[in-house]
Formats: sequence, structure tokens, C-alpha cells
Amino acid sequence: MARVEDSPWAISVAQVATRAGQSKPVDADFPAPEGIGDTIVGVAPGAPIHVSGSFDSIVDGLIFSGRISAPVSTECTRCLTPIEHDWPVSVTAFFPYAQAESKRDARAGKKARRETEVDIIAGEDESEDTYPLLMDGAFADIEAMLRDSLVEALPLQPLCREDCRGLCSQCGENLNEHPDHGHDVTDIRLAGLAALKAQLEAEAGE
Ligand SMILES: [Zn+2]
Ligand SMILES: [Zn+2]
Repeated sequence: MARVEDSPWAISVAQVATRAGQSKPVDADFPAPEGIGDTIVGVAPGAPIHVSGSFDSIVDGLIFSGRISAPVSTECTRCLTPIEHDWPVSVTAFFPYAQAESKRDARAGKKARRETEVDIIAGEDESEDTYPLLMDGAFADIEAMLRDSLVEALPLQPLCREDCRGLCSQCGENLNEHPDHGHDVTDIRLAGLAALKAQLEAEAGE
């Protein structure tokens, strides 16, 4: 059986989990877990996800707050150009010490912290996500936190740029690269006239 400490997503937090008021900074790359989006919009498994922030211990668990940044690969929904860029997400996650603990107590603990550190959690509502500590609180497992945070943040309608001009509806030319591209409508009219002329000539020749 694989050991917890061998997991690429296990972060040693034993030194801060001993008492409240401790902080452990995190600033490192972790491999992307499976299952973040799909091949159209997603993060390739194993791609480096940068995590920066800190684990802060409170009475009933650890709170991670920080930012994660992942290389999202996708394509523009208008012009189909592949897009690869870092996608930053702000994360606040709770790692409770004991799962048996009543939710009410956990909430009270979080509420007390909120009031003292409103700046960090500003803009967040009550839907803070909860993730596991392993081996009696020695390790925080951030695999699910990375996946959930990124899946929620993936763009639904990615664009290569806000004002992407898309593709020509008639021939598929990329209109960003050829802004003057267009099909001369008179071409079509002239083609019609040429056909008519040929028809008239054929009739006259009969
Ligand atoms: Zn585009
Ligand atoms: Zn065209």
C-alpha cells in the first residue's frame, strides 16, 4: 500500500497542527491530478500547478488560503486557435482535525477566525470547501482541493481574445489574421449574369 507521505499531494503540516495560531507557508509546484476538465478545456494530468499560500492552524483544523495557478489548455470557441495560459484561482479551504466533530463547532471556530482575518476571506461566502488531513493531522492532502478549485474555475466559453473576429462563415479563413478578408458579393452576381448570358447565347444560336 502506498504511503501517505509518498503522495505528490501530501503536504507535511505536523509542525503547525500541534496548536492554534501557527502558520506554514507553501510555495511549490504540484502535479495536476486526473479529471480537471477534458481535452477541450482542461489541465493535462501531471502538468505543474503552482500553489502559493499558507496553512494556518485554528482550534479545530487548518485553513489553507492562497492562490493556485495551472496551465489550462483549450481552444478559442470562435476561431479554434489553441490557447495555453496560466489560470490563477484564489482558494480558501478548511482541513478539519476530526471528521467526527460536529459541524456546528467547526463553524463557530471558522466564524471566530473570519472576524479577525476578514481581509483574507473577503468576498467568500459560507461555501468553504472541506478536505482531509491524513495520519492524525500530519499531512494535508490537497489533491481534491486542486481538482475542485480548478474545475469550478475553468472557462466555459474561452476566447483567444475578447474581440476575436472568428472564422469566415463561407470558407473558414481566420479573420484575426486576415482582417480584410471577405467574399465579394458581386462575384456571385457576375457568375449569375455570365450563366444568363451563356443561356441567351445558346438560345440565340438555336
Ligand atoms: Zn479566437
Ligand atoms: Zn472566406
